[in-house]
Amino acid sequence: MMQCSHCQSNQTVKNGRRNGIQNYLCRSCGRQFRETHRPQGYPPEVKQHCLNLYLNGMGFRAIERVSGVCHNTVINWVKQAEQALPEEDYEIPESAQIDELQAFVGSKKSKAGSGSPSIQAPLTFSNGWLATVPSPRFGCFGA
Ligand SMILES: [Zn+2]
Repeated sequence: MMQCSHCQSNQTVKNGRRNGIQNYLCRSCGRQFRETHRPQGYPPEVKQHCLNLYLNGMGFRAIERVSGVCHNTVINWVKQAEQALPEEDYEIPESAQIDELQAFVGSKKSKAGSGSPSIQAPLTFSNGWLATVPSPRFGCFGA
């Protein structure tokens, strides 16, 4: 019997399917809930263990060897965990980027007076800042 996700009651009945996912109705609290979806089939303890290994600097292949969990699954878990992080965790890199931007704009301004070419600056900046951005136009950012 499926346990109610709201009140943990076992007084539940099947209540039809939607998009292939079984829906249940709880007779105890009267609310509906969906079948617990575990795409990888691993218990949360295993997932947490693998995330801990990753946080301790272990590579995905090494985690696969010691835990038996496919490295692709671990990568997905890490992605999910990163998306679930609160906004505050991203403040430090963002402010670092702004500092870099200001340093770049500042150095460009000072170089403009001296007449020396500053074409290297935006290239270095775009590489160091967001190496994953594929657009070559990104080099014009802040210009
Ligand atoms: Zn319930």
